[in-house]
Amino acid sequence: MPEKIQVVPLRAFKDNYVWTLRNERCAAVVDPGEARPVLDYLAAEKLQLVAILATHHHADHVGGIAELLRAGEVPVYGPRGEPIATLSQAVGGGDHVSLEQLGVSFEVLDIPGHTRAHIAYYGANMLFCGDTLFACGCGKAFEGTPQQLYASLEKLMALPDETLVYCGHEYTIANIGFAKAVEPDNAALLERERSDANLRSENRPTLPSTIGREKATNPFLRVARPAVIASANKYLGKRVSEPAAVFAALRQWKNEF
Ligand SMILES: [Zn+2]
Repeated sequence: MPEKIQVVPLRAFKDNYVWTLRNERCAAVVDPGEARPVLDYLAAEKLQLVAILATHHHADHVGGIAELLRAGEVPVYGPRGEPIATLSQAVGGGDHVSLEQLGVSFEVLDIPGHTRAHIAYYGANMLFCGDTLFACGCGKAFEGTPQQLYASLEKLMALPDETLVYCGHEYTIANIGFAKAVEPDNAALLERERSDANLRSENRPTLPSTIGREKATNPFLRVARPAVIASANKYLGKRVSEPAAVFAALRQWKNEF
């Protein structure tokens, strides 16, 4: 029986999370934009770092890797096709990342859009999705088209509803504000606002979310709903109904919100 692993959020910068998978002895970190919070945690908990996983090349996700490697060489997994100087194991869709010391294995999913070759790690009912899917929102399409980003979100939406979603940032409350502008009558969204506002008032993370929860409350995953289409059309001042076009309208609206 593999021992159960814990997933711990370490805060970095203003609102980043470095998700840390650990057991009694070992740890692996996802998207360490900063090394200091990781080094402090490893020292305090007497844990050995065994792997680093990166979802995309942005500095607030990979900026701490070089310093972590100075404390000891470990494999660094990340997307093939993005400029990450510290990468040792370039991976892409369909590859598997096995963290033997932690008894867990992930499938790599290609989810481009936020960046050109952004990836997610999916396994053991967990999804680490960087800056592609956020709680009640999604990342900006910096290096891909909105259509590409929407196709990536559709891929994530197809995962089981109970999948735990570990996003790269604590953006939930601001995202809910936009979601309410799109779907003011979504009861699940209003309930989510209450529960997540409570968590934040206690300075607790609103994450992980679940795929089921996102499907019920995240406007970017609800672009086939009449209320969402109507709001997107009102914003655009013209009629669109094709999901990727509704998505693109929401993404543009959110950028200005
Ligand atoms: Zn990013």
